[in-house]
Amino acid sequence: MDDCNCLNCHLQAKWREYYEVSEAMVRVNFPVYKEIMAILQKVCTEPVDIDQYWDMAVRLSEFLEQMGQGTVFYNYFFEQINPYHYGNVRYFRHLCLDLREQIQAFNQWRKTRRRLSVVAL
Ligand SMILES: [Zn+2]
Repeated sequence: MDDCNCLNCHLQAKWREYYEVSEAMVRVNFPVYKEIMAILQKVCTEPVDIDQYWDMAVRLSEFLEQMGQGTVFYNYFFEQINPYHYGNVRYFRHLCLDLREQIQAFNQWRKTRRRLSVVAL
């Protein structure tokens, strides 16, 4: 399916580009990806102690930064989570849930793509 010039195709192409960059970074930085998922799992499923918050938020944002700009991990979330930028304990858990949801959508795209490439063979 070729892209035409309509806004919908333009946005789809943008998302594909964004996801492709993210996928490449997961491959290159797989241990970092695992660290991010481990922190998100913890924050999303267990209560976060106020004393742990700062270190966790700093650590998570450092990992997000390592995944790089232009990825589902970095854009928006880095600055919103990093306590030296806009990070705030009140929104930490909510942001982690949003980020996890975004990564799940991205992983769904990766799975669909793999299936499509198998069919294409
Ligand atoms: Zn179109």
